[in-house]
Amino acid sequence: MNIKSEQEMIEYGKEYAKKITNNPSSSNSPIIVELIGDVGTGKTTFTRGFAKGLGLKSPISSPSFTISKSYALPNNRTLIHYDFYRLNDPGIMKAELEESLSDKNNIIVIEWADSVANVLPDNRIKINIFYDENDSRKIEIEN
Ligand code: ADP
Ligand code: MG
Repeated sequence: MNIKSEQEMIEYGKEYAKKITNNPSSSNSPIIVELIGDVGTGKTTFTRGFAKGLGLKSPISSPSFTISKSYALPNNRTLIHYDFYRLNDPGIMKAELEESLSDKNNIIVIEWADSVANVLPDNRIKINIFYDENDSRKIEIEN
């Protein structure tokens, strides 16, 4: 999948959110999306579109300076966006993360998950984003 612009990334995130939330088999456990890619590849941009596709009307901000942000969604669900880039001591976030993971109404998006990967379930969706030619991005999804 090749994404040519920021706008296309937002659109892609939006359509992806619609696709996975329409799948009834995903309703018994929280949806967990790990975003993998270098700084500036578009992980937060993807999440902006993803949030729109989940029905969030207000824009999301980058959680870079706050580590986590929660947004109430329609249907009693909650989007939780984590960015662990600046997390030096993962221990302080693990309890909160585990609590988030225990609620099936949560939809959890994580940037820079490496330091907390051992508390994440294997059934998470991994979205890899790579720089490609002319400002485009390549996306590969493992699930
Ligand atoms: P990350 O969260 O991965 O560090 P961001 O989403 O914060 O990245 O930033 C991506 C930046 O790259 C934005 O400034 C966006 O406008 C720009 N950009 C340029 N081309 C693209 C593209 N094809 N897809 C996504 N973002 C792009
Ligand atoms: Mg980011």
